Amino acid sequence: MGTFTKILFTAMCVAFLAVKWTAPRFDPESLRGARVLVTGASTGIGEQMAYHYASFGAQVVITARREKVLEKVAEKCLSLGAQKALYIAADMASESEPDKAVDFAVENLGGLDYLVLNHIGPSPFSMWEGDMDHTRWLMKVNFFSYTQMAWRALASLEQSKGALVIVSSLLGKMPSPFVVPYSSTKFALNGFFGALHHELAMKKSNVSISICTLGLIDTESAMDKVRGYTNVPAYPSADAALNIIITGATRQPELFYPWFTYIVTLSKDWFPSITNYIIQNSYSYTP
Ligand code: NDP
Repeated sequence: MGTFTKILFTAMCVAFLAVKWTAPRFDPESLRGARVLVTGASTGIGEQMAYHYASFGAQVVITARREKVLEKVAEKCLSLGAQKALYIAADMASESEPDKAVDFAVENLGGLDYLVLNHIGPSPFSMWEGDMDHTRWLMKVNFFSYTQMAWRALASLEQSKGALVIVSSLLGKMPSPFVVPYSSTKFALNGFFGALHHELAMKKSNVSISICTLGLIDTESAMDKVRGYTNVPAYPSADAALNIIITGATRQPELFYPWFTYIVTLSKDWFPSITNYIIQNSYSYTP
């Protein structure tokens, strides 16, 4: 290893440890009785978040489209120790249902401490062929419903010194092939909630915003998409879920999970040509 590489490596390790040491401590007790709304909680990372919140003794409302699946997740939440576990079926592509889900949570929990926005609509893993209907629909589900729910919940969160938690993606910071509409929705989220974060801070608002940047996570839907295209390692959804919850509970503005996704985002700005080369050659694709 050359001297420059050694210095760079040491500097990165020191920076990483400094960030870890100075990170606020998570107190699981802070979530006992907390009033939480988790979207996209019928499966994947959202389902795992519901179980973690339940184990911490929170009061949870979960939402997604499939009522029967939500019912089962809510039952399991109760068995894990949730003080309350309610569900409401809602389609986030609708104009009115995002608001209904927030109102249901606020009314049934008597307020809201955490709004965890996590849902995504299904989207193909393929080259973009100009499907504008899908792109518009996905923007509604993955972006507009987030902004609508955040606005609807803001007054309640303000009262409780609450937290908005946004589940985003590395693909919202670094464009990648085969996910053009999805990546666009995640870039939109990062822009919107990044800007809102400034505005709330300038208004001395009580509400914190945490934007969570995730790498590849081993949920069924993600694995189904990338199988045969890439060998990038996937990280466990239960651990990703716990990290998101801790980030929200400690009111940190950002999470990068796994940690090296942060380095990946830096590499895009520092070494754009190399990064583009690696991205385009990390997929099996024959035109
Ligand atoms: P899943 O596909 O496993 O889950 C998506 C959830 O959204 C389900 O609960 C689904 O339930 C719900 N949903 C889908 N369409 C709608 C709709 N129209 N209205 C309301 N709810 C809907 O996703 P993951 O768990 O993999 O991802 C969760 C979050 O993590 C997302 O924000 C994603 O972008 C992010 N992320 C995930 C990564 C990964 O590799 N898994 C990587 C980076 C980020 P139902 O069908 O019942 O409606």
